[in-house]
Amino acid sequence: HVGELEQVTKAGEVISELASIAKVMMRRTREIEKQMLRSEAQTRALRRRLDEARRSAEEDHLTGLPNRRAFEALFEESYRLARASTEVLCVAFCDIDHFKRINDTHGHEAGDRVLKLVADSLARITNDSCHVARHGGEEFVMLFRGQTLTEAQAKLDSLREALADRRLVNRANDQPFGQVTFSAGIADVFACGDPRTALRAADTALYRAKLNGRNRIELASKDDCAPPQLDAAA
Ligand code: GH3
Ligand code: MG
Ligand code: MG
Repeated sequence: HVGELEQVTKAGEVISELASIAKVMMRRTREIEKQMLRSEAQTRALRRRLDEARRSAEEDHLTGLPNRRAFEALFEESYRLARASTEVLCVAFCDIDHFKRINDTHGHEAGDRVLKLVADSLARITNDSCHVARHGGEEFVMLFRGQTLTEAQAKLDSLREALADRRLVNRANDQPFGQVTFSAGIADVFACGDPRTALRAADTALYRAKLNGRNRIELASKDDCAPPQLDAAA
């Protein structure tokens, strides 16, 4: 029986060795599980940060409106959709009147608050078929899908009137800002041919609105859609 006893002892050794290997494996498995949970959380955090970065790359941080870059993409997309469904598409260029005076009289911070307020009032009509974006400085662009030039003009005109009727006050010192107004030019994108030409035509119409006394909206004519005349070389 001595041989048998030796075998039992050997089996005991093997079992205790197996038990310690199993313990090590379980510890490793738990470590790996923890590492996996950690890297899943890291992936989620990275994805969140990527979404935030993407949003802030397309958002104007002062007004919260889409910025020029986002607008350009939106314009291309709206153009594609409107063309496919043979819908009308209009684009408007809006510019606050005498905005420099507001900055000069009340300071840049107050100017920022006025900019935000104008942005908020333009954004009030934003929906699936109407988009507003800050193009830069005190200039805003708007897209009207499925609305004719005169329908878009009526919408924008009521915003213009509502803003012009307000009597804004600088909350920092209770000084009146006076009347804050904007001028705009609107163009029919398909009458002009393409988004870039229509935007330029809307800008030309805006320039006319400024010349004609400001606080008004002008419609782009066929001539406004014509390619710009190059100056003859001297
Ligand atoms: P007009 O009626 O012809 O458009 O006159 P304007 O004074 O509005 O136009 P102008 O181009 O002479 O001046 C625009 C001013 O807008 C100058 C610039 O300092 C100011 N501006 C541009 N961006 C900002 C901004 O983010 N915040 C503030 N406070 N001012 C800005
Ligand atoms: Mg301007
Ligand atoms: Mg201006």
